[in-house]
Amino acid sequence: MPFRSGLGFDIHKLEEGKSFPLAGVPIEGRKVIAHSDGDCLLHALSNAILSALGKEDIGTYFPDNKAETLGRDSSNILLFALGERKKEGWKLSNVSATVILQKPKLLPYKKQRKENLSRLLGLEESGISVRANTREGIGEIGKGNAVVCLVSLIREK
Ligand code: MG
Repeated sequence: MPFRSGLGFDIHKLEEGKSFPLAGVPIEGRKVIAHSDGDCLLHALSNAILSALGKEDIGTYFPDNKAETLGRDSSNILLFALGERKKEGWKLSNVSATVILQKPKLLPYKKQRKENLSRLLGLEESGISVRANTREGIGEIGKGNAVVCLVSLIREK
């Protein structure tokens, strides 16, 4: 089987605060409520990689009720998922992500976000696409009280 797809999703609550991490970039103006550092994009990405491998989700490997995962840097979770992929000899072909966030605007962080993902994934920037959408003011996400991330990817031999 030359190709397999992976799909990941994550959501985190947000509230007034200094900043929260997204793809390892501090986004100013809100803070995240989470057991780990709450990087929604890295969590969805890690889950997408593990799903393409047919593995369990990140909550299985990094439970959110254990002291050792409190405040964990989510890049470690991603590195774990990438390590699992490496063991099986697969590489990532491309990564496509959508962030749904009402506020703040993510445009100022676009360049740094892509650089971070490229470095963490060892994947050329041309293979990484991240787009941001608002929720048009609808519901709790539309009030700015949560961030949602969806990631799909293709792995290949
Ligand atoms: Mg999460």
